[in-house]
Amino acid sequence: MTPEKIARARILVTNDDGIHAPGLEALVEIASQLSKDVWIVAPEANQSGAGHSLSISKPLRAREVSDRKFAVEGTPTDCVLLAVKHLMKDHKPDIVLSGVNRGTNMSDDVTYSGTIAGAMEGCLLGLPSIAFSQAFAYEHPVKWATATAFGADVARKVLAAGWPLNVFINVNFPNVVASAVKGIKVTRQGVRAFGSSIVERIDPRGGHYYWNSYTPGEHEDDPDGDVSAIRAGYVSVTPLHLDLTHDATRKKLAAEFAD
Ligand code: MN
Repeated sequence: MTPEKIARARILVTNDDGIHAPGLEALVEIASQLSKDVWIVAPEANQSGAGHSLSISKPLRAREVSDRKFAVEGTPTDCVLLAVKHLMKDHKPDIVLSGVNRGTNMSDDVTYSGTIAGAMEGCLLGLPSIAFSQAFAYEHPVKWATATAFGADVARKVLAAGWPLNVFINVNFPNVVASAVKGIKVTRQGVRAFGSSIVERIDPRGGHYYWNSYTPGEHEDDPDGDVSAIRAGYVSVTPLHLDLTHDATRKKLAAEFAD
């Protein structure tokens, strides 16, 4: 996509942290650096961890927050579908941007992510789509200024290069101030840096409840992976695709099942 085309593009912005999230404002700032035609269709409530889920047994209600800004009682996937197929049907978006998520979306965790799913859905609808996430540390302010310093340039560069229709782009920003960013690395989906755990607690009335948590995990660093790049202070740019087929195993099994 040429710089002229990007400047004239209609951009759809969504996220999974919800319509009130500071990261949404950061992404609107990034989108506005690319084009003046920015629409926002984002979930009413936080949908982090919603993955690529789709609401099929409840109504989707869209609240018009202001001109070209809608909050939807649904998932990021619902938002992109409703935007492209209905709210913006007379003049569809040319680009879908999702984020900026509070926290990274890297390695195997991309499958849980509603932020990634926003870009997945854009990709399924044939639109160039990019997900953005900002690394942070608990109990510290999120460095949104790092995302806004690099987001538009990264988007312009990847859009200029282009990619096949079944591919979308996953961008993560490191947890350092913009001036300390080492550079931009094109990476592969890396190896999960932690494991899942269930924390059991007792409520004030004596009932047990459980919370999904995580534990630091032993893992082998993939030097070309997204996790390594973010740890080293680089912006990570990973092209992802929706085809989950493992080709080597497919070939092995095909030989196994051959007559
Ligand atoms: Mn989120």
